[in-house]
Amino acid sequence: MSFTTCALCPRLCRSACPVATGSGREAAVPAVIAGTMLDAERGNVPAALAREALTLCTDCGACQEHCHLHVPLPQLLREARAERVPRPALEPLQPIHGTGDWIAIESDDRPFAEALSKALGKDVRKWRTSDHLGVETLAYPGFEERLERIRGRIGNGRVVVVSGGVARVLEKAGVGYQWLHEVVRDLPGGDGSCALGGNRPLACCGAAGPLAAFHPDDAERTGRVWLDRSEEWVVRDARCRSHLNRCGGTVQDPLDALIARVMP
Ligand code: SF4
Ligand code: SF4
Repeated sequence: MSFTTCALCPRLCRSACPVATGSGREAAVPAVIAGTMLDAERGNVPAALAREALTLCTDCGACQEHCHLHVPLPQLLREARAERVPRPALEPLQPIHGTGDWIAIESDDRPFAEALSKALGKDVRKWRTSDHLGVETLAYPGFEERLERIRGRIGNGRVVVVSGGVARVLEKAGVGYQWLHEVVRDLPGGDGSCALGGNRPLACCGAAGPLAAFHPDDAERTGRVWLDRSEEWVVRDARCRSHLNRCGGTVQDPLDALIARVMP
């Protein structure tokens, strides 16, 4: 499969793409990105312009979902990024601290493991990651070894997550997990995310994929469109929470609700 079908497509998935919609940029329309990449493959586009096009994406999958031909454009873009965009920095896997069957994967500075332990009345181990277990390098060579190490560290632990990035890595590793709002009853659900599914005002808020690192202004514009469209002030994915608050929103996620409930 190549970029040809998308490059010749009359932009049918344009309105589904959160980056095209949120940034308002013609260059971010999936068919235009594919056209740029087709030209790049023919040697007609400089490498920097190809990288620019490839990173105008949150890897949300919406184009494929809305495609009448089900073209796997997100996968084509992922593979092309692994070839043409330098690998993002990768944090070494941190040790898991504590005892007990449960493992809370902390992806920001909030005391997730402690709050979950109080809510469940059980010991909860803490696993800290500042890059969502390296989700942005998932398609790059060598990630399989990291997945093997992740499987080894988790073993038979019962994993609970709040980050869509972490969830994507665990899925790739074939490791079972639950979202916080599935484990603790009566937490608010709120808008879904590109990793979690569910109802959302845009396919992605702009937090995921290479967009935020390479095009922070476009990521912020996308976040503001989400905020304009949303009638919710709760989002399920901690990545969306951080990003939307950076975009001027005042949103919370289930972990905020849990901390407010159980922490002194
Ligand atoms: S994913 Fe489908 S709808 Fe979108 S540009 Fe490609 S062919 Fe067209
Ligand atoms: S994966 Fe999402 S952000 Fe990327 S081109 Fe498709 S719809 Fe746009």
